[in-house]
Amino acid sequence: MESKCDEKLHEECGVFGMYDFSGKDVASSIYYGLFALQHRGQESCGIAVSDTFGPKGKVTLHKDMGLVHEVFNKDILDGMKGNIGVGHTRYSTAGMSTRENAQPLVINYVKGILGLAHNGNLINANELRNELAYTGAIFQTTIDSEVIAYLIARERINTHSVEDAVKRTIPKIKGAYALVVMSPRKLIGARDPFGFKPLCIGKRDDAYILASESCALDTINAEFVRDVKPGEIVTITDGKIVSDTSLCIDEHKRGRCVFEYIYFARPDSVIDEISVYESRILAGRFLAKDHPVDADLVVGVPESGNAAALGFSLESKIPYGAAFVKNTYVGRTFIKPGQSSRESSVSVKLNALSSIVKDKRVVMIDDSIVRGTTCGKIVKMLRNAGAKEVHVRISSPPFLHECYFGTDVPSSSQLIAHNRSVDEVCKLIGADSLGYLSIDRTKEMVNGLNICTGCFDKKYPLEPPKDDIRGEYIQ
Ligand code: SF4
Repeated sequence: MESKCDEKLHEECGVFGMYDFSGKDVASSIYYGLFALQHRGQESCGIAVSDTFGPKGKVTLHKDMGLVHEVFNKDILDGMKGNIGVGHTRYSTAGMSTRENAQPLVINYVKGILGLAHNGNLINANELRNELAYTGAIFQTTIDSEVIAYLIARERINTHSVEDAVKRTIPKIKGAYALVVMSPRKLIGARDPFGFKPLCIGKRDDAYILASESCALDTINAEFVRDVKPGEIVTITDGKIVSDTSLCIDEHKRGRCVFEYIYFARPDSVIDEISVYESRILAGRFLAKDHPVDADLVVGVPESGNAAALGFSLESKIPYGAAFVKNTYVGRTFIKPGQSSRESSVSVKLNALSSIVKDKRVVMIDDSIVRGTTCGKIVKMLRNAGAKEVHVRISSPPFLHECYFGTDVPSSSQLIAHNRSVDEVCKLIGADSLGYLSIDRTKEMVNGLNICTGCFDKKYPLEPPKDDIRGEYIQ
């Protein structure tokens, strides 16, 4: 959603898989699916396809750095023949954004081929990588998806099926993941037992689809079948879905990443039966109830602040207005020449409409404050456009701690709310008042679904690693 030049949080990836039992090519549908998942990763992308009626082990893979529409064209897609395939869009941390690390990963081994696309972050990837390296594995990439692929391939040698190999791999990998795996005749989806990352199932004619978000199903006119349950393994083969829930854990132990609802996911997606849009409207309503203010206008910082702003307006009866014009052409390629230009990157992306905010007391809704630089800049932008007062309301709790589960969050010391009171943060961003959503409200906004709140209260659903491994093997 936001480019890497800003200080917003970042999702790490989108995954997509498709198996058409009638034998139709799937590459172009995967392309459109990835297009709908572009907001989850803008650095590289790829598609791997195979023909389940053809020779086992023949895979066509195309991946590269760039946005989906930059990496693929009609000729490339026309050349990708196959009725089963997986696709991936990737965001990575700086320095690791290389073509080798683009996904899907395809490995050839004694049982044939394995294509894998992964969203998430393993907290024991280093340990597993070392173990595998000492037994002869030679890694081509620095991403932990390759560790998963090796583990599945190794387990497959001693099991009867690829789904059994996935099942034996899952207890070994710890952390957050949504996986889509392609074998010569099967498409497999798996979600970590905590459900950090979303994954859903769709159907169109004779094809089944796996996708990070339901918006990707809408894009290809597929019907939404259901979410993959946290901990579930689904195997799509012979025209049907086979479910294995034996590794699922109790619902109360699960911990979906609440930022999927607050910010990452597209508002037109539904995750674990909760509409992302509706949850954002609710967050805005809660903010209006918990942090009311006398004002003339409510505005959202686009895009993810808009729905919460509408919710605030509906609850408070203060009119809603679109105060910002967003430059939609600012994307991955916008290069910030140096630290001194950090501030200006905000005004390149956004501009405030003076005619809307002039002489008004404005409530500005955003989804989060990370370092505070961007938020402060937008407050200033509203004041420069003539706003009389700027009251900031944030549709998430104060961001205080690291994330180890696939969200690219700066270390605590760089987070503006760390070791600061709300009043101190308010002063730093130059607002007239500041209010955050409470942790209890984040639970209410997703209708009591069990969520991870680790970056607010350090209560992670599973023990974080002792050493900070963030950024080492993120895909
Ligand atoms: S720590 Fe925060 S960003 Fe990370 S998974 Fe939990 S809720 Fe999501």
